[in-house]
Amino acid sequence: MALADKDRIFTNVYGYQPWNLKEAQARGAWDNTKALIERGRDAIIDEMKASGLRGRGGAGFPTGMKWSFMPKQPPLDQNGNPKPSFLVINADESEPGSCKDREIIRHDPHMLLEGALVAGFAMGARAAYIYIRGEYIREAETLFAARDEAYAAGLLGRNASGSGYDFDVFVHRGAGAYICGEETAMIESLEGKKGQPRLKPPFPAGAGLYGCPTTVNNVESIAVAPTILRRGASWFSSFGRENNKGTKLFQISGHVNRPCVVEEEMSIPFSELIERHCGGIRGGRDNLLAVIPGGSSVPLVPSAEIWDAPMDFDGLKAVGSGLGTAAVIVMDKSTDIVRAISRLSYFYKHESCGQCTPCREGTGWMWRVMERLRTGDAHVEEIDMLQQVTKQVEGHTICALGDAAAWPIQGLIKHFRPEIERRIEERHGSLQEAAE
Ligand code: SF4
Repeated sequence: MALADKDRIFTNVYGYQPWNLKEAQARGAWDNTKALIERGRDAIIDEMKASGLRGRGGAGFPTGMKWSFMPKQPPLDQNGNPKPSFLVINADESEPGSCKDREIIRHDPHMLLEGALVAGFAMGARAAYIYIRGEYIREAETLFAARDEAYAAGLLGRNASGSGYDFDVFVHRGAGAYICGEETAMIESLEGKKGQPRLKPPFPAGAGLYGCPTTVNNVESIAVAPTILRRGASWFSSFGRENNKGTKLFQISGHVNRPCVVEEEMSIPFSELIERHCGGIRGGRDNLLAVIPGGSSVPLVPSAEIWDAPMDFDGLKAVGSGLGTAAVIVMDKSTDIVRAISRLSYFYKHESCGQCTPCREGTGWMWRVMERLRTGDAHVEEIDMLQQVTKQVEGHTICALGDAAAWPIQGLIKHFRPEIERRIEERHGSLQEAAE
């Protein structure tokens, strides 16, 4: 059963209607937001916990629980004054394959702004900072304009939405670094420093932006919150499997007949998602080679294993990959799979912030070996050596970029080793022939 239109949270994801406040209100945004706030912090957090929403930015941490980590009583600064708390919204969407937050921001920015107020109130935040990817120029313009509309209408700012709660929203444009999507790097960048991750603890809920309690949430996680509160946790949790609840924006790119961003029920089988919304695999099911189901940082899954897999956190973990941001990259048999993964290796090498040695040196090393495997100019033993190096990078770095660089290569070796070996043998064979 496909998700019915009446159950879609994002009703303007394709931008068929204008994004502006009047139209957004007609679609249901900012509908008596005051009443949502009047429920109180605990009730909002309890409802979010009951909904089963897990963070939509990749890690999948339960959203309500994350909000509950924010202190009820603000900590005091050195002068004995209470510190403010902040919500940081991660709109730095830079993972290759991911393009869902962009659709929310450019076509329904008021859903995000209303979500910011409700979520910010629930965690006792004084303000929200929306950190938007530098390359999203038009999207940032829309967001600035929508924010101005919301202020002019009294929905944000002093006595936001007539709730008696003062809440500001700042939009901050990034400068185009992938690593600033990591929460501590984002906080550093907001503070005007180099966007480099830092070790945790302390976690942002204890000491985040400007040393104050902070929660960092993904755009989609925040934008769905008002609808969940209005329609109820039980409605939201009626979709998807246990531990994988709700609806989700899937972004399908690559070798399908109609690439798209679509909201669907969590746990929908891969085959149904592709057949129903993308017009099937280019050249038919038998032409499918492999899929990267959650954005470039998760391991690829070969066609036979992905076809019936439920598209959710547990279903994709069971096939050795992950849901990530639900950026589904489909590759048919015309794909040079070694080249594709090598290109991703280059991306991670380029985006490494350089702080930790395994990542700084390892990403470059892995990319160079991947290039040799791509052309076949390597020895078969180097495949195992590369595998070992990925294991030395994985889990040995400050942030998850090291893992993100290692996993696609591990997936390639696991599923396409014969193809890598074939290239090496072919190349060595042709060199031998030339020598004779
Ligand atoms: Fe920087 Fe890479 Fe270390 Fe992350 S893992 S902190 S990107 S060097």
